[in-house]
Amino acid sequence: MEKLYNLLEEHYDEMVEIRRYLHENPELSFQEVNTPKYIAAYHRALGHEVKEGVGGRGVVAKLHGAKTGKTVALRADFDALAIQEQNELPYKSKVDGVMHACGHDGHTATLLVLAKVLNKLRDEIEGTIVFIHQHAEEIAPGGAISMIKDGCLEGVDVIFGTHLWSTEPLGNIMLKEGPLMAAADGIYINVKGKGGHGSDPSNTKDSILIAAQFITNLQQLVSRRVNPTESAVVSIGHIEALNPFNVIADSVKMKGTVRTFDDETRNLLEKEIEEMLKASCYLTKADYEYDYVRGYPAVINHKEETAFLVDLAPQVSGVENVHICAPLMGGEDFAYYLQHVPGAFFFTGAQNPDVEETYPHHHPKFNFDERALLIAGNTLGTAALQFLKEH
Ligand code: MN
Repeated sequence: MEKLYNLLEEHYDEMVEIRRYLHENPELSFQEVNTPKYIAAYHRALGHEVKEGVGGRGVVAKLHGAKTGKTVALRADFDALAIQEQNELPYKSKVDGVMHACGHDGHTATLLVLAKVLNKLRDEIEGTIVFIHQHAEEIAPGGAISMIKDGCLEGVDVIFGTHLWSTEPLGNIMLKEGPLMAAADGIYINVKGKGGHGSDPSNTKDSILIAAQFITNLQQLVSRRVNPTESAVVSIGHIEALNPFNVIADSVKMKGTVRTFDDETRNLLEKEIEEMLKASCYLTKADYEYDYVRGYPAVINHKEETAFLVDLAPQVSGVENVHICAPLMGGEDFAYYLQHVPGAFFFTGAQNPDVEETYPHHHPKFNFDERALLIAGNTLGTAALQFLKEH
């Protein structure tokens, strides 16, 4: 494994170069054109078996080891966000309003260079390594579900993936067994009252008053309906009733997010939010529309594969600490892979200790410590080689 790390270190400059190239040239989810081409060309040059257009815009490459054995998949996503970059960097995004603000540029650079390095170690590989380059992680339904339908997991025995994490110290690997990231759903509501003159409320059904009561009561669902040992979040992020000051609103639109870890809580909230809405409309006999849109399911790490990573990580050069974390309320469509094959997802600490202020993912000033690429690559690569050796 020392060999793997030395090779990765030798190719560190290339990793950074690829990351910065991708950072300068970001592409939005479901609109990726040049990034998948770039990825496919890189693998082809290495002599890997390459499939493009997997599940839409995904790329899958395979490296067959010199010896036969099991198949390990490693996944990296490659889409960017609709955010205007506010960093002043030599490799700042060249695309107006589009930015790699989640680190997927780093994930892709890591997996590409790791593929190159593993290719050099072909003689020692006892099985097959599948590189899953996924488009469209940021926007539901996401790329994973269609890539799986298109066969990217065929023959795969185990899958590993990582996410760089800008608020976790460099040198840390962060993960946990079981629920790691939440199911992220959307609620879309329209309260349909009866508008009128602001001076004449008794002849109206005030949609704003109904919406206000609904939002206040909504917070009782987590505290009084959800089992206290389970976690859940219900947040309204958007409320709209664009009227002049002297008008009682005819309707109010609301949007919100629901985060849960287990299906029971998820199903309960889907139903109870509507009950609360119905109750809020009841007194004035107002009407409503309610749409609960399911996003990604929760990321549930498998027990054995998580334990495998927890045991292995301290021996990986660059890893100083294995942080067994609490679940995160964010979502990730890596969840789908874990519904099909055993595996585990982990975070690679990427907080730059020399930077005064760390910005979180999806912030216009987001950035990460590029040395984390080496740690991410080494952990994924060691996991793949070690798994094939043991099985
Ligand atoms: Mn992400």
